[in-house]
Amino acid sequence: MSLLSDRVLNMSTSATLAMAAKTRELKAQGKDIIGLSLGEPDFNTPDYIKNAAIQAINEDYNSYTPVDGYLDLKEAIITKFKRDNNLKYTLPQIVVSTGAKQALANVASVMLNKGDEVILPCPYWVSYSDIVKLFEGIPVEVKTSIENDFKMTPEQLEAAITPKTKMIWYSSPCNPSGSLYSTEELRSLADVLQKYPDIYVVSDEIYEHINFTNNGHASMAQFEDMFDRTITVNGVSKAFAMTGWRIGYIGAPEEIARACNKMQGQITSGANCIAQRATITALNESPSRVKFMIDEFKIRRDLVLDLLSGIEGFQTNTPEGAFYVFPNISSYFGKTLRGTTINNATDFSLYLLEEALVATVTGDAFGNPDCIRISYAASQEQIIEAIKRIKEAVS
Ligand code: PMP
Ligand code: GLU
Repeated sequence: MSLLSDRVLNMSTSATLAMAAKTRELKAQGKDIIGLSLGEPDFNTPDYIKNAAIQAINEDYNSYTPVDGYLDLKEAIITKFKRDNNLKYTLPQIVVSTGAKQALANVASVMLNKGDEVILPCPYWVSYSDIVKLFEGIPVEVKTSIENDFKMTPEQLEAAITPKTKMIWYSSPCNPSGSLYSTEELRSLADVLQKYPDIYVVSDEIYEHINFTNNGHASMAQFEDMFDRTITVNGVSKAFAMTGWRIGYIGAPEEIARACNKMQGQITSGANCIAQRATITALNESPSRVKFMIDEFKIRRDLVLDLLSGIEGFQTNTPEGAFYVFPNISSYFGKTLRGTTINNATDFSLYLLEEALVATVTGDAFGNPDCIRISYAASQEQIIEAIKRIKEAVS
């Protein structure tokens, strides 16, 4: 009998977290690595949010919270959904979790049975596929093209649907491509789903506020005919620079939310009490208070695209949100650089780590083996230096 379960043995390690760990290790050895691998804002949590946490500690918030979150936090989430997304959720439809990651794992665990298929437009966020597999679902990858801005078309969606399709999972703004689905594009996907009333949608909107367009953010649940079969996932990690605070949440059909509450009650209980109090302030304040970070991400997006355009063999789309670029670097496959043969995106990413001392993430982790992901949640100086090093290493 093996010590470890097949479950964990069959699971991949999170490539983003593995690269972050490797970066830390190399830095500790004194290597001058520039980390562009982790999707984590390099800003500090704003003071008005930190002060809410300090106040909560001083007010002796220290007990277990309700499993699905403090009542006033759930009210703040309802207000946020209404204010920012025009979504009308009620209290039993909200569950607060330890990060959007746990929210996603909850949803998979309460909705998937063995063999249920989950459509994942590629590239998708690294953990979707393994979370689905953990709960015995089957990820069905739908390849998108850079020409279509890495977005799934209604025809592609229709072609991927089978009698076993249970759900579709996507993020918009997308990690790793930075693409946004417009209201019209979501509507055309929803139109396909009209023929399949049993298929649910997980709409991961954690990058909602990191949007560089003037068109605003589009939610699948905004459509009346989709509201009852969409799970809207969000959290404070990204826009509020609160990755380590670990608060995410869902708005979902009541039956699913209740099931998530039950599942979470056996696995972790309620999320951290201080972080929940701080999240009330983060959500109740106007999102305009964090706009300075979004403005800076946009400047960096333009900087990265400009610098990458000066390197041969990096094909990019124009990301409209989040803080990643996802260049296609497949023209390097088969080439030998400084004695190292590059066979795939993993080789390329490792080559950049070793020769340019720049950490990126292989596109394989996101279901697209022709690309690498570069996070520009780093200072402009670091970005300039990193891309200069990449250029030298591939010339
Ligand atoms: N969804 C997407 C698309 C992400 O990029 C992340 C990054 N961490 C998460 C979910 C999970 O976020 P968290 O658990 O920090 O709330
Ligand atoms: N979501 C971030 C990323 O994609 C954080 C790492 C993770 O949670 O996997 O890099």
